[in-house]
Amino acid sequence: MSELPASVTDAAALLRRGETTSAELTEIALTEAHRDTFNTWLLVADEHARGQARAADERIKKGDASLLVGIPWACKDIIGTKGIETTAASKILKGYVPPYSATVVERLDEAGAVMIGKTNLDEFAMGSSNENSAFGAVQNPWDTTRVPGGSSGGSAVAVAAGEAMFGLGTDTGGSIRQPGALTGVAAMKPTYGRVSRFGVVAFASSLDQVGPFAQTVEDCAIVCEALFGKDPNDATTMPLQRENLRRDLDKGVKGMRIGVPKEFFIPGMEKDVERAVRDALRWYEKEGAELVDVSLSLTDHGLAVYYIIQPAEASSNLARYDGVRFGLRVEGKDLLDTYRRTRGEGFGAEVKRRMIIGTYALSAGYYDAYYVKAQKVRTLIKAEFDAAFAKCDAIVTPTSPTVAFKIGQKVDDPLAMYLNDVFTLPGNIAGLPGISIPCGFSQDRLPIGLQIMANSFQEATMFRVAAAFENATNYHDMRPQVAA
Ligand code: GLN
Repeated sequence: MSELPASVTDAAALLRRGETTSAELTEIALTEAHRDTFNTWLLVADEHARGQARAADERIKKGDASLLVGIPWACKDIIGTKGIETTAASKILKGYVPPYSATVVERLDEAGAVMIGKTNLDEFAMGSSNENSAFGAVQNPWDTTRVPGGSSGGSAVAVAAGEAMFGLGTDTGGSIRQPGALTGVAAMKPTYGRVSRFGVVAFASSLDQVGPFAQTVEDCAIVCEALFGKDPNDATTMPLQRENLRRDLDKGVKGMRIGVPKEFFIPGMEKDVERAVRDALRWYEKEGAELVDVSLSLTDHGLAVYYIIQPAEASSNLARYDGVRFGLRVEGKDLLDTYRRTRGEGFGAEVKRRMIIGTYALSAGYYDAYYVKAQKVRTLIKAEFDAAFAKCDAIVTPTSPTVAFKIGQKVDDPLAMYLNDVFTLPGNIAGLPGISIPCGFSQDRLPIGLQIMANSFQEATMFRVAAAFENATNYHDMRPQVAA
């Protein structure tokens, strides 16, 4: 075998039949990761991966039939890994080695999956292009002059370029779905409260969720089954029964109601994106789904709400990097000076921008005008989704208004950069699950993403609607031509 199988389910079947081993899959992934030229990896954990592969092969020999045993995966470097450096792509955490793993990593360890290494991202997950990494931008394998999206660009590229069978990312405003769209892979953000964030470097705690990148919708569901569930270490996780999230994958969409919000088809959107998404909607209709107009009139305000709440929470979460407890320390003449120097040198420009905005929004006198007002609008946005989901089973939209843009194109224009997430961040504001799947290509042969959202905890319905489209199309089979 010279390349990784096309899906986790394919790989699992080969492993069960003894036609490959986890050791073999792991060597392929490690070789590809070392050969990577896109700046995807911040760390490749060869020996750790080989050890996990050996243990997985033992489990398989003993008849363990769980689907993730022996499967190589890529971990966004904002997710803590015991004994393995975790930087959040920030100079301030360079050299930080967590004494414990995040719950999501532990769950994948228990499932027998093999972690290949830590992937690049925008510093502290702040960005939409991966250009904010302290360790350099990531290139899009479809066109290396373009960004892969962000902030989980590294995990998206690892999957798109065949260097891992699935990846984990975090999504605070779109950081899983948007890079998934821009690199042509399936990418999913769970309902808020489904997945533990214990051990994940906190960005904006009322918005963050961990979720998968994979080649197929089914693979995303398999990973979610391993991740979902109550964690006593994260009080926001819901005590729900373990659920078979794949139960409806083959049911099709006949008789389902698909909501189409007109506010998600905005003037600034690229023609190719609009065409591909409208084609997908027509396909759903042809398959017997009913398209219903739903109104999400506050979509525009989502961006404003997000850019108050998110920096406010980030400014508070990032206060802990003081040069004493984690990572970098730059000595000053006294304690205050040490704080200043450490934070001044350790944080990049975008992170500082967010902390300044957040501190301002939370300060006495402005708190009511900005933060409290934003929380009120957040409630209204959630109410609009509630009303929409009274009329439909799922909402289908573009994931991002544009395809992958040129590296450097938007770095000097934060507002243009922030606009990337206009279609994804409402899902975070309202806490809803969403998945991006490939639905076409632009004239420049760049992937286009289709977003499917469902009501809270209705992931099985979201997967059903996504799988129906995937089963009928071959966009998910198309891979970038990666130069060897
Ligand atoms: N691009 C958005 C931001 O910069 C979302 C990031 C994310 O989801 N982590 O905040």
